[in-house]
Amino acid sequence: MICTNCGCKLEIGAKFCSHCGKETPLVKDDNVGKITIIRAKKIFGWAIPFEVYIDEVKLGVLKNNTTLTAPISLSEHEIKFTSTEKDVIQRIALDTNKKDVTIYIIPKMGLIAAKPAIKEIKYN
Ligand SMILES: [Zn+2]
Repeated sequence: MICTNCGCKLEIGAKFCSHCGKETPLVKDDNVGKITIIRAKKIFGWAIPFEVYIDEVKLGVLKNNTTLTAPISLSEHEIKFTSTEKDVIQRIALDTNKKDVTIYIIPKMGLIAAKPAIKEIKYN
């Protein structure tokens, strides 16, 4: 998430900009949704970690059999998964009817190593 006032990168889930104090869309409770990213337990490609970014800000590292979750505003977002191979970018759109999204990730064998592949996107 980028501050609309000063342009600096904000931590995921931030309600205010840590630099200029400007409110973010998450300051309103009715504008807060949730994203969950689940990487299933796999024997194949298990050792390759994937980094996860939401709107250019790192959310964390997704290892084998782990889950990442974060508050996210009800709007459009770019989710990026990186590995040793080509990044995978997925756009999601949350709104008042789709406040909660779960993305299921599996490692898929590429040329050099396993790369992230999206198995399913489920809106709740
Ligand atoms: Zn700011």
